[in-house]
Amino acid sequence: MHYKSKEQKTMKRILVTGGAGFLGSHLCERLVNEGNDVLCLDNFFTGSKRNIAHLIGDPNFELIRHDVTFPLYVEVDQIYNLACPASPIHYQHDPVQTTKTSVHGAINMLGLAKRLNARILQASTSEVYGDPEVHPQPEEYWGKVNPIGIRSCYDEGKRCAETLFFDYHRQNRLDIKVVRIFNTYGPRMHPNDGRVVSNFIVQALKGDNISIYGDGQQTRSFCYVDDLVEAMLRMMATPNGFTGPINIGNPGEFTMLELAEKVIALTESSSKVVFCPLPSDDPKQRQPDITLAKKELNWTPLVNLENGLNRTIAYFKKTLLEK
Ligand code: NAD
Ligand code: UDP
Repeated sequence: MHYKSKEQKTMKRILVTGGAGFLGSHLCERLVNEGNDVLCLDNFFTGSKRNIAHLIGDPNFELIRHDVTFPLYVEVDQIYNLACPASPIHYQHDPVQTTKTSVHGAINMLGLAKRLNARILQASTSEVYGDPEVHPQPEEYWGKVNPIGIRSCYDEGKRCAETLFFDYHRQNRLDIKVVRIFNTYGPRMHPNDGRVVSNFIVQALKGDNISIYGDGQQTRSFCYVDDLVEAMLRMMATPNGFTGPINIGNPGEFTMLELAEKVIALTESSSKVVFCPLPSDDPKQRQPDITLAKKELNWTPLVNLENGLNRTIAYFKKTLLEK
């Protein structure tokens, strides 16, 4: 028998689906830095090799091009399932594929976890609450979701994925973890993915108009990516049997108008706000109740909006200059 060093004993083989995306790339980086053997899987629909270029060549990092809607045969100890486009313009581009990615992707990754007896974490979303009537949203709230609207491919796909996770847990005693992620932002967001933080920063840096959809009174709560990754790791490390779902997000709540004003001030931009049509089914308000995460993960977000925006602005400044 080979002697294993302490490091080797604690090192885990970890699969991250959607690992070349915004959140996935930060998660891979953190897991590699902590000495794990990371298998990053992506079909590069919205992710890019640029996001993980700095990890390529590291002996603890491996990249595979694969679509989660097809079965996968690998050997790992843990799975983080993040594969799915997250921005409305991307998930609405091919809505049928979005549902397939959430549902078939979940079935394939759960099947893999079952064969391996591996712990599996699902990146779910605050979108499972839809346009919520309960504010802030606790995990017990079942949501108000339109099943046939333009956001449904994402919302219902993610809801069905949660159903599958809990049925595999009940039926096969699979060790599952479900996190409901609220709007998260930071470096490596795609500059054209249409999400509000990246849109406003890029517009402000270019001196373009800041596009506010509707009257700008709708609210969101923004979590910085490092805080999110920390919470995901803590959730993965909870004892077997603690499944979630658990809300992960920053409870600081802002209107889109307030966000636009903050971005303009921090970038010292001369951009002006313009009001554009509100997309249908756009939730009016969103704020996580993170009581459970505080209690079970001993976690609370540390980066406030101003600090997080400054770090994100620095990233986009560099990216735009390079272009
Ligand atoms: P992203 O679009 O940057 O990342 C998604 C990644 O999944 C991309 O790299 C993409 O190429 C990959 N992907 C898409 N379809 C795939 C498929 N069929 N097979 C393999 N790979 C595929 O988005 P993100 O913000 O990093 O989101 C990551 C996960 O977190 C998603 O599941 C998303 O639903 C969830 N989430 C994100 C947020 C947020 O605010 N960022 C909020 C809630 C939930
Ligand atoms: N939004 C906006 N201008 C933009 C992009 C988005 O006013 O250029 C609004 C959008 O209508 C929504 C909020 O910002 O009310 C958050 O949008 P995003 O797509 O980032 O996330 P989600 O709606 O999925 O929470």
